[in-house]
Amino acid sequence: MLVLCLTMTDKLPKLNSDIADISAWVDIDKVPWVIAGPCSAESAEQVMATAVEVAKSPNVKVFRAGAWKPRTRPDTFEGVGVEALEWLKQAKERTGLLTTTEVATPRHVELCLEKGVDILWIGARTTVNPFAVQEIAHAVKGVDIPVMVKNPVNPELGLWLGAIERLFGAGISKLAAIHRGFSSYAETDYRNRPNWVIPIELKRRLPRLPLICDPSHIAGERSLVERVSQMALDFGITGLMIESHIDPQQALSDSKQQITPLELSEMLDRLKARGVEITDPEVRERISQFRAEISRADSNIIRDLADRMKAVEGIGRIKRDHNIPVLQLNRWEHLLDDHLAQAAEAGLDAQFIKALFETIHAQAVRRQL
Ligand code: PEP
Ligand code: MN
Repeated sequence: MLVLCLTMTDKLPKLNSDIADISAWVDIDKVPWVIAGPCSAESAEQVMATAVEVAKSPNVKVFRAGAWKPRTRPDTFEGVGVEALEWLKQAKERTGLLTTTEVATPRHVELCLEKGVDILWIGARTTVNPFAVQEIAHAVKGVDIPVMVKNPVNPELGLWLGAIERLFGAGISKLAAIHRGFSSYAETDYRNRPNWVIPIELKRRLPRLPLICDPSHIAGERSLVERVSQMALDFGITGLMIESHIDPQQALSDSKQQITPLELSEMLDRLKARGVEITDPEVRERISQFRAEISRADSNIIRDLADRMKAVEGIGRIKRDHNIPVLQLNRWEHLLDDHLAQAAEAGLDAQFIKALFETIHAQAVRRQL
């Protein structure tokens, strides 16, 4: 089960009040607004052709292309480097789109600033490393440039928040967070699991921070990109970063997850943006009835949990008095089987119930120590 490493009461008032509105750095007149372009900049022709095609969609506001690629294995294409920045500049001149690329070192930042890249992003493999993030923060100090921070590869809110704080501390107020999913050893449909609890908690702490979703790196597979994009919109996310390549089959990195500019524009037409305001009074009434029911159920859960913990403490006292160990594995396994059977009957997801009761059980053990 997810462990949020900061307490629910953490407040970040300064960061919250001073984060710039997204409209200060992107002209957003459409939902979703989109950052599109290839995983990697491969050649002047590939960059220009892709930029010209993606720019045809009115939702696309920013052109992306990786100049330096953090590849898992050596002897794979690691990007063309600084040369790509010139191609981005030409793409911008031709299409009018803002440009963005990933920076992982102070030298990358220096080169991007020199070559006029409009927006920087920090990749998932860099967000995990506070030393690297601090060096990048130092390199952008005093520069008015937007920086987008991808979530770290592992599902940890603290590192993501920490990277944002380091950049803010260096004077960057045009900030955004990108949810690109988290790596997991477990079997999943996705390349990187979209653990929505974490970006939602980030948003709760920093309501003003623009949140973008990168469905391409979550999906890892082009047929899933649309489903994940719609999921992001359903969560109220209005910005998407989508990898698009003029010829995905020939892409030198992330070939399986890229879509053509035409597929991108057709997909954008199909996606349903959700309005923030509920205007229909009848819909509002129905929603508020369900909300009341949910609140009632939550109160019952809390009351039942409190009763459960009281019973646990009662057992704990008896175990202590009679020298019986706290952890009774047989009983716990029995309980879990029983809960899973009940959950199946009630149509509840087994993994969810297992994770929930593991958390409850861990707390029960702690209460008896
Ligand atoms: C990318 O955007 O191409 C990339 C490498 O992303 P991430 O840092 O999310 O893996
Ligand atoms: Mn990629």
